[in-house]
Amino acid sequence: PFHKSKGQHILKNPMLVESIVQKAGIKPTDVVLEIGPGTGNLTKKLLEAGKKVVAVEVDSRMVLELKRRFQGTPFSNRLEVIQGDVLKCELPFFDICVANIPYQISSPLLFKLLDVNQKQNFRCAIIMFQREFAMRLVAQPGDKLYCRLSVNTQLLSRVFHLLKVGKNNFRPPPKVDSSVVRIEPKKPLPIPIGKLKEWNGMLSLCFSRKNKTLGSIFGQKKVIEMLEKNYKTLESLGHLKNDSEAIDMSVLADEKDEQRVVNENEDCNMDVESGKADEDEMDVEVSDADSDNDDMQENNLDFKAKVMGVLKQFDYADKRSSKLTQNEFIHLLSVFNQAGIHFT
Ligand code: SAM
Repeated sequence: PFHKSKGQHILKNPMLVESIVQKAGIKPTDVVLEIGPGTGNLTKKLLEAGKKVVAVEVDSRMVLELKRRFQGTPFSNRLEVIQGDVLKCELPFFDICVANIPYQISSPLLFKLLDVNQKQNFRCAIIMFQREFAMRLVAQPGDKLYCRLSVNTQLLSRVFHLLKVGKNNFRPPPKVDSSVVRIEPKKPLPIPIGKLKEWNGMLSLCFSRKNKTLGSIFGQKKVIEMLEKNYKTLESLGHLKNDSEAIDMSVLADEKDEQRVVNENEDCNMDVESGKADEDEMDVEVSDADSDNDDMQENNLDFKAKVMGVLKQFDYADKRSSKLTQNEFIHLLSVFNQAGIHFT
């Protein structure tokens, strides 16, 4: 009866459901968004805790089952079921999101929730992810799983690992272990909203070859050409001298405050699926040609010297993305921008 392709793994352990709802800290006045309610095991507890539950479910059979389950109960008028794909529909207003999601939508769903253009103003999201995906979200510089996903998620939110969940808590059991994570959107963001696109451009470059130094990544001919092209475009538009969205380094939070909280004692080992956690996608195509290129034109070389100069001046040339903190990435973007080097 369960659709594997829809990631249908039902939570069968009532104590675990209880524990997730309790950790979510739902207030009696809260509108709760649930994604993928399935047969409603979590939904029921959410209805008990909050004022209203809006549940988005793609599978019509599950929608029917869910409605049937609460029909004629006092809950029915506090439950709103939206049938549809959560990635395609407009998110309704909510205070808090609690969800045991199909893991194949982890990354797009996360960024949909954190999308600054959605004008959502929610308090936090408590979401079950595949364990490895969850560990990527909270990974710190130097950790094996530290990647673009970690840096991006932590730019937009504070992420806490709440609970380890073993496979056998689900029916049918998935192939991988899971973790419940708490995500609190940051307000305000550490960088101006208008810089997000450029930030993404820089980060995908920085992580395009994770174990290379920044000096070698930024020294590539194609990268220099791209940065020089951006420079010329902005110069011709007269945008170089006045960057209205300049990054203010003085407002950056002390990084010590941003440390994750991993509560390893809370191991819910009573025991989903997606295949692998999302690999870092590459937005920027970069050839594997080596840094130095003899046939570079002269002005090209000048621009390369400019880029390398910034990296060296601020001591980034020999550093690798796998060890850089969020504030260092922000600082890097800021000093690049001050030199007229832009990623969009
Ligand atoms: N919440 C239930 C529980 O914990 O027992 C079921 C969780 S199950 C892992 C995921 C649920 O999400 C399934 O009911 C599935 O049909 C639904 N689903 C899958 N893809 C979806 C999508 N794109 N939008 C909304 N719901 C989706």
